[in-house]
Amino acid sequence: MPKDYYKALGVDKNASSEEIKKAFRKKAHEFHPDKKGGDEAKFKEINEAYQILGNVDKRKQYDQYGDAAFQGQGFAGTGMRWEDFVRAAQGGQAGGFSNMGGVQFDFGDIGDLFGGLGDIFGFGGGRGSRQRRGSDIQTQIEIPFREAVFGATKEISLFKTAACGKCQGNGAEPGTPITTCKTCKGSGVVTQVQRTILGSFQTRGACPDCRGEGKQAEKNCNQCGGSGLQRENVRLSVKIPAGIDDGQTIKLAGQGEFAGGGMAGDLYVTIRVQPERGFERDGDDILTGAKISIAQAVLGDKISVATVDGDVTLKIPAGTQSGTVFKLRGCGAYSLRGGGRGDQLVTLNVEIPKKLGREERKLFEELGKLER
Ligand SMILES: [Zn+2]
Ligand SMILES: [Zn+2]
Repeated sequence: MPKDYYKALGVDKNASSEEIKKAFRKKAHEFHPDKKGGDEAKFKEINEAYQILGNVDKRKQYDQYGDAAFQGQGFAGTGMRWEDFVRAAQGGQAGGFSNMGGVQFDFGDIGDLFGGLGDIFGFGGGRGSRQRRGSDIQTQIEIPFREAVFGATKEISLFKTAACGKCQGNGAEPGTPITTCKTCKGSGVVTQVQRTILGSFQTRGACPDCRGEGKQAEKNCNQCGGSGLQRENVRLSVKIPAGIDDGQTIKLAGQGEFAGGGMAGDLYVTIRVQPERGFERDGDDILTGAKISIAQAVLGDKISVATVDGDVTLKIPAGTQSGTVFKLRGCGAYSLRGGGRGDQLVTLNVEIPKKLGREERKLFEELGKLER
């Protein structure tokens, strides 16, 4: 069933750009999935409608051909999945900021939000560049505590837009020529005059015929239909540097979504480090604790302490106070900046016994008498 984008936004077919924008903002606020009573499906629907009607070129295409003109493009035609977007939007912190693909978006104001996304998705208008760049992908992986300390290589699996295997991404049937686009004469940009009650405005946007590339296949590749793209499952090996910390992000340039005829975006992999009982990271240092008895603290002793390299012996001098921190040099995490390893800091805790045996009680009583 053809979609009625005008109806989705609740505007008249002759509505001005300003009216469409207003209607979208109002509805987006109303149905934002973050809000109580929000409706994700509805929000998606109005967003889709605005992606088309909010863009002069796309609205024109829609008026002429209906939504069939945009079929098969997915959300905003980029391969960024809606789920990712919603997750990013919902993951916004108190200040309304969320990090997506290495770019900061303000989710506090829906207007700014879509302004920002418009640029990312290539609907920002006016830029129409020939070197289209695919979207960045943001993903995260979880690694054990020790792999963060020592580094590791991890396999990840991504479903992403890649270059079509048949035409290598240029959209032309192999062996057929690619010629300069007649609509934009190779510039990739078209200028349109938009008439409103406030006067005429010139808008520049990506050429709808060549999608901003300036050239067109004479015969479209029959595998990708000329888009030059295919969605595929890609397995990637990610090298995690020794010393990475929870929340840090690795950038893999060119491993994001591919854009037809253009460059691929980047892949950002955020590392989540699983905690390990007894160990805590503080930069390059590792913090641990150890318990000793009163006698050990008073008389001194040698104790065994667990490190990420195995157990080591720690010498406790006589008269050690509870809370004393001992440094095991070089037993910390590798430094991300190079230059060796951090230390392990062991905080000693002197345990005061809660229950005493008869013999112990006698000895403490003796001790007590001596102290009087
Ligand atoms: Zn192809
Ligand atoms: Zn063109």
